[in-house]
Amino acid sequence: MRDRIEALMGRARDDLAELVAIRSVADPRQYPAEECLRAANWVADRFAGVGFTGVGLHETSDGSNAVFGVRPTAVPGAPTVLLYAHYDVQPPLDAAAWRTPPWELTESGGRWYGRGAADCKGNIVMHLTALRALGDADLPVNLKLIVEGSEEQGTGGLEDFVVRNPGLLEADAILVCDTGNAAVGAPATTVTLRGLANVVVTVEALRGELHSGMFGGPAPDALAALVHILATLRDSDGNTTIAGLDNSQRWTGAPYPPEQFRADAGLVGGAGLLGDGTVSDMLWARPAVTVLGIDCPPVVGSAAAIQPHARARLNLRVPAGMDAAKAQDALIAHLQSAAPWGVRVTVEKESLGQPFEARTGGPAYRALGAAMREAYGRDMVALGQGGSIPLCNVFAETYPRAEIILMGVEEPLALIHAPNESVDPGEIARLALAEALFLRGYQP
Ligand SMILES: [Zn+2]
Repeated sequence: MRDRIEALMGRARDDLAELVAIRSVADPRQYPAEECLRAANWVADRFAGVGFTGVGLHETSDGSNAVFGVRPTAVPGAPTVLLYAHYDVQPPLDAAAWRTPPWELTESGGRWYGRGAADCKGNIVMHLTALRALGDADLPVNLKLIVEGSEEQGTGGLEDFVVRNPGLLEADAILVCDTGNAAVGAPATTVTLRGLANVVVTVEALRGELHSGMFGGPAPDALAALVHILATLRDSDGNTTIAGLDNSQRWTGAPYPPEQFRADAGLVGGAGLLGDGTVSDMLWARPAVTVLGIDCPPVVGSAAAIQPHARARLNLRVPAGMDAAKAQDALIAHLQSAAPWGVRVTVEKESLGQPFEARTGGPAYRALGAAMREAYGRDMVALGQGGSIPLCNVFAETYPRAEIILMGVEEPLALIHAPNESVDPGEIARLALAEALFLRGYQP
């Protein structure tokens, strides 16, 4: 199987080059909608070529097209595996920051560069390579395919489609191939995703602006009050300290080495890491609050005046095991009780998303673990991810018995969403091998 995959890598590269050349940004204000249509048809055509039947485009509620198809087995009682990826990509962003043309797959230093080379077109090619290596022979599993066309826009087309068509996508195991290993050559699945709870806090203290010379001192300053409130959200070590929210959880999966995190995050000079937990505790197991924006006078144009009101938007990342709605309520109560000097504090709720936690004890996880060990020569580990993938929550709610597996070619060097995105072809090859072995070896 390894040799077959190796022999297929030239074709994988040609396929990825064709797919990367399609500018499938799912925003018609930026790129023509025909580009997404071309990508969808490309995907449908290629999967029809590896034994999928009934492959077609299904329009979703946000106007994007999801590609769906099936490849049933003759084996009675066989389980069903749903393969997921997305064909839309982020825009290239700063064109001048790219060292190679973003829409032209370019090899450099052993990696393949281009927008979407990893996220998520590399995963589409991984699926294709695994299926080609398996050939036409009947598999011991039923396969279903769903490749969506608006993941990067967050407009929820596929989430809605799943809820409206639960029977169509029902499966025993779902391979959500849109994440990656912690490092090249180190196999992993992502087992938790943080949720989020956003709020906007407004402080009002005065009817209008006051001259700081005439009134500064006794007059309550709304901006100073806001700064005071925000400062109570962290302790001196940088731990997030919201009354009623546990901040002592431990991460039990793979560690995130602090040196690697420092490099990945790009810390300047003497800046230190926050919190009294490990990097993985702080990143994947505990709540974390971030101030996203503050409304107050900008420095240029500011006058000697006391501010009557000020506001801030806050983002709370919620770890698995914590209810995002309760965490949002705790944040609101904390902000109100931290208000100094009797100023008026109002808090509006904004977006809310629950965290996700995969069930990892089942037969699909076991079979994938064995396949990864075979493909990589080392054991698969469990990672968390700081961001959220709302589709995983929809899958978990719609198919509570399904094993949901997050994996893929998007390791940290891939720089997904940034200029100079790339993929390591070795990761495509190893993961395609693991996927092929999994599809041959998985039995419930
Ligand atoms: Zn993606």
